Formats: sequence, C-alpha cells, structure tokens
Amino acid sequence: MAKLIVLSGPSGVGKDTLLQLLLQRVPGVVKCLTATTRAPREGERHGVDYLFLPEEEFERWIAEDKFLEYARYNQAYYGTPRHLAEEWLAKGVDVILKIEVQGGLQVRRRVPDAVLIFVQPPSMEALRQRLMARGTDTPEQIEHRLRIAEQEMQAMRYYDYLVTNDDLEQAVDLLRAIILAERARIVKE
Ligand code: 5GP
Repeated sequence: MAKLIVLSGPSGVGKDTLLQLLLQRVPGVVKCLTATTRAPREGERHGVDYLFLPEEEFERWIAEDKFLEYARYNQAYYGTPRHLAEEWLAKGVDVILKIEVQGGLQVRRRVPDAVLIFVQPPSMEALRQRLMARGTDTPEQIEHRLRIAEQEMQAMRYYDYLVTNDDLEQAVDLLRAIILAERARIVKE
C-alpha cells in the first residue's frame, strides 16, 4: 500500500531543500501539487509550484469536498486537491504533502495510516539566523515568523517522527530511513 506522508515545520527550517534531496534519493515517492489563493511569487508557475486559484474557485472546491485538507494561512487558502493525491496513491507511489500544521492535523484525522513528519530547527536562534540570512523579511516580519514558528512547534506532539535539520545530509538520511522503514511495516488487521 502506497503511503501518504506529511512533511511540516516552521518557515525557514529548510523543508524545500530537504525535500528536493529526498526526491532525488528515494525512488517511488513524489511531492503532491497543492492549491493556493496567494499570488504567485516571481518565477512561480501555475501547475508546477501550485495550482493558483481565485478565492471563489477555492471556496467552490471546498463546498464540493474536493480537498483532502485545507487551511487558511497568512491570509490565503492552501489545500491538497484530493484527486491529485489519490491518483498517485492508486499507482502505488508514495505521496509527500509539504503542508502547514493545521492541514497536517486534518490528515491525521482523515487518513489514520498517514505518516506525519515534523522538521524542527536546531534552535529558535538558528531559525532566526536562517531567516535573517535569507534576506527576504524585515526584522518585524522575522519576529512575526518566529512567533508563528513557536505556535507551530506545539503541533509536533501529534506527529509520528521528529527530524532536526541541523546537518542537512544527516536530516535527509533520517527522512530516507523513515520512509524505507514505513514501507517495511507489517500492516496489522
Ligand atoms: P508558501 O506561501 O510559503 O508557499 O507556503 C506557506 C505554507 O503553506 C508552507 O508551510 C507550505 O508548506 C504550506 N502549504 C503549501 N501547500 C499547502 C496545502 O495544500 N495545504 C496546507 N495545509 N498547507 C500548505
């Protein structure tokens, strides 16, 4: 049985880099395309980075129960179109959802055998340094992100695995090991 895998963690923790390396190193796993109502950032493409939907359309999809999970985050909607995840799973491919924690907790309730992985920074100070080095936010925005990160870390207790992204190679190795171990799990009746 193919697995649904949720990957969450605070903004700036390095989920994108981890995921990119993981996808190169583990065959039979894909990242599911998700939908959002936020505006595309420079270089982002519809159907590649996200399905960029107008708010009315997103709300229509909610009403039609087209999302496996969805959440409101940073004044926009984000959601996983059910059919996209299910098509991969039906083909026997493991699906990674890189989503924030409200969505992760919905998956926990709806898909009991999903595997939830939380990525944490080595420390809050390390996260602050990374957000500063990224250079995309003002000091106020960084403080705001750190406060959100502290709240998000509370959701960790509902996740199955915790990966600390201190050393990138070690973190990728651990993610890979988790996926391989989950594939070897004997399913009890
Ligand atoms: P960004 O706007 O930076 O691309 O994403 C903001 C947050 O939304 C990130 O934590 C990202 O992982 C999360 N996200 C992306 N797609 C989805 C989704 O379909 N559902 C949920 N719940 N969160 C998502």
